Amino acid sequence: MSKLMISVSGVRGIFGESLTPEISQKYASHFGIYCDHGKIIVGRDSRTSGPEMFRAVSTGLKSVGCDVVDLGIVSTPTVLLAVEESDAKGGISITASHNPAEWNAMKFVSENGMFLFPREAQKFIDSLDELIGLTDSDKTGKLTQDTEATNRHIKKILNISYLDIEKIRSKKFRVVIDSVNGAGGLISPRLLRDLGCEVIELNSEPTGIFAHTPEPLNKNLKQLEEAVAVHKANIGFATDPDVDRLAIVDENGKCIGEELSLLLAEKFILSKVKGDIVTNLSSSMASEDIAKEFGVKVHRTKVGEINVGKKMKEINSPVGGEGNGGIICPEVHYTRDAPAGMALILGYMAEQDRPISKLADEIPKYYFAKDKIKVAPEILDDVMVKAERIFAGYNIDKTDGLKILGDKYWIHLRKSGTEPIIRVYVESDSPEKSQELCRETIDKLV
Ligand code: MG
Repeated sequence: MSKLMISVSGVRGIFGESLTPEISQKYASHFGIYCDHGKIIVGRDSRTSGPEMFRAVSTGLKSVGCDVVDLGIVSTPTVLLAVEESDAKGGISITASHNPAEWNAMKFVSENGMFLFPREAQKFIDSLDELIGLTDSDKTGKLTQDTEATNRHIKKILNISYLDIEKIRSKKFRVVIDSVNGAGGLISPRLLRDLGCEVIELNSEPTGIFAHTPEPLNKNLKQLEEAVAVHKANIGFATDPDVDRLAIVDENGKCIGEELSLLLAEKFILSKVKGDIVTNLSSSMASEDIAKEFGVKVHRTKVGEINVGKKMKEINSPVGGEGNGGIICPEVHYTRDAPAGMALILGYMAEQDRPISKLADEIPKYYFAKDKIKVAPEILDDVMVKAERIFAGYNIDKTDGLKILGDKYWIHLRKSGTEPIIRVYVESDSPEKSQELCRETIDKLV
């Protein structure tokens, strides 16, 4: 039996096992109360459990007096934008993101169109123990549909002030898009056609029957690599099922890795708007090289897009995001948005008039190694204390777990929010060095 994962980023489980319609309804009711019984916007990805999840969520919300606006199958960034641009008090995106098809989840959105900030999320989670009494609402909410959210999202992307749409259109890029049968099939091909691209669609049917492992990692994108080569396309894009992560395949049919998506967007945006970059502590140090090139700084936050988005808003940053293909373009909104990312990358290609492989080559090369240490839950904190002792003489950042900063390398140790494991991330200027540092670190700690 799988466990229901409750964390500040939402509630996730295997549908029908740990995540049942009853549980979803209960969480939705509590969220409705948390949002003062106001209007709630709900969208879902294409998972087969989506309609049943939606019914449970909608019933829960309406039972506490919330009016519900149903967006149908949409990307997570579309839900976030719809909440931001409306008078809704909150939103729920029903999606287990990059997780396998049998999973589903609820991600909770606050009225400003960003995910709940960790402190708010904790407050909401703590409220779950309170019983819902009959006095919580004297009316039942109404359900309405909004079928225009995706159109508004596309329009907002096409209105990014520094994007030369006509220039992109004039290039008539040939693009292969792999939406893995997630929600992306309903937005990405349309956006790309609006940008004048000749679009070759892979897995565009939003059936929820994922054509391959849905996380857009290199190893899962063989079909896209082949299609780009066969069709002699200029670029290939892949997204996860809820369309907030973007991976790129170059014109030679080779994945360039999700980290590059954000770095390329940084280069393009900084060439247009000056301002500091914001990214999380586990994203590539190539951001520092790019920042240096443009005479700006990099601000590092805790992992989690809400932390990045909040900091960006605070300092009025023009670009930021997370290394897992999560590009944040504030002209659209302060959350990760893969369709916006596609427009930015095509804008960069159009402007530079060079193939994507060449643009990727110009980004300084660093190499990641990632692993995890399984630890008994009761000694998790002790292991982190031990790590602090071991690395006592080093330059250390304790914003989020423990980050050891060396010369051309870093090691980041973080407790998982949902499992008894410590994640170990390493980046350095050589693949061997990264593997070695990762192995050494684990050996020292276990
Ligand atoms: Mg996602």
